[in-house]
Amino acid sequence: MDALTSLIVILFIVLCVFLGIRLMLGRDSKKPQGPTPYQEALHALIDGQNDLAFQKLKEAIAADYDNVDPLIRLGNLLRSRNHMDQALRIHQDVAARSGLPKFQYADVYRQLCLDYEKLGNHPKALEMIDRILQIEPGHSWARRKQVKLFEKNRQWLEAFNALKSLVEEFKIKYQLQDVVLPVSPTLAPLPETKRESMPVSTAEDDYLSYNEVSMPYEKRATESLTAASAAAPKNAKARELLKALRILALHKTMLGLDLMEKNRLDEARSSFEEALSIDGYCVPAYLYLGDYYRVTGRSEDAVEIWGKFAETMPDISHYVFNRLEDVLYELGSFDSIEGLYETILALNPDNRRAIYALAAIYEKRGDLNGAINLVQSILEKFPDSLGARQHLISYYHKLNDSRKAVQLALEISGLKGPQRRDMHKCTECGYESPVPFWQCPECYAWRGLNDV
Ligand SMILES: [Zn+2]
Repeated sequence: MDALTSLIVILFIVLCVFLGIRLMLGRDSKKPQGPTPYQEALHALIDGQNDLAFQKLKEAIAADYDNVDPLIRLGNLLRSRNHMDQALRIHQDVAARSGLPKFQYADVYRQLCLDYEKLGNHPKALEMIDRILQIEPGHSWARRKQVKLFEKNRQWLEAFNALKSLVEEFKIKYQLQDVVLPVSPTLAPLPETKRESMPVSTAEDDYLSYNEVSMPYEKRATESLTAASAAAPKNAKARELLKALRILALHKTMLGLDLMEKNRLDEARSSFEEALSIDGYCVPAYLYLGDYYRVTGRSEDAVEIWGKFAETMPDISHYVFNRLEDVLYELGSFDSIEGLYETILALNPDNRRAIYALAAIYEKRGDLNGAINLVQSILEKFPDSLGARQHLISYYHKLNDSRKAVQLALEISGLKGPQRRDMHKCTECGYESPVPFWQCPECYAWRGLNDV
């Protein structure tokens, strides 16, 4: 054999040995063919085939009880089927194991948090958040969840502080330090806050298109923002920030309300004022700050703040009608409420609540015809108004004009569409209430913040 042939033979042998080793190793390393039960379970979960996932997860657990992932997921599946006892037991069992990697403890505490939340045990859910944050202090899901759980548990100061630190980090991350909510044009009561960085729209009528759902400050804030920043991505982040700022103001307002109930009045006042320094259009803060003035004997101040509120936000001025009537009656200057309603109607002639309230004053004075004329003006503009007909029926009834009353009643039966008046609705879950609410008692969403 010449040298070349020997080289070829040697190379051939080396190649055969190499291929042989690869083949043997390959056969050894891929012993199980096809997907494992756990992989099948994951696919079934993604496809929404929960029954199959359930069965495959059980197989995976039976095959390898030390692998906690299938166990955690089985617990989650049981929670989604409302088998809360079983879900909780499985997750607790995993959490009690020792020697797991940190991320798995964080995962199972997260699931336990969701279990407790579903069971309505908010203190326990918060305890799970604490455990996650001990493992990973910056855990972003845990920190956001913590704010919601503090709210559900009515721990307003804690909710405020937790959200505040998220807000501060968010501002730095997206360079939004200059973004603040606009201050109300006539209600700016707090001179120590500077707001030059946020140009406020000067148009006085831009909150007049208020509807039942969104707050007037919503539109104002969005417009100011559009003026402040033209860049679209920054805009979206800035809107997110504004929403969080509004919630911070509401936290302070709710905290103030709790303090009022505990008779810690000075602290309550500072809390309302802080709310207003964050959000110049925080509606409930104005209402309750006025309540504080009344409770502390400063009725004139209450009249002033509610009066300004009504003039600044005529479309939601009805929030203060009853309060103003009470305090003015107490002060013996009931007549001035009439002037206020006239001012509101000059600003917004279509404010039906102000018309009804003014008509009620005419009625009290015995001027039923004046009341009828006022309410009749609503029917001219809104021919389908149920409320106007109901008021008119009552007035004609008092005038013993049963022919007119019956005619109006017949018209009501011919009206189309939903006839409920003055319902406040949650845009998140559809909850409805005749009394205004700031946070939905059903789903805990903040009202008027969802359509930003
Ligand atoms: Zn809701």
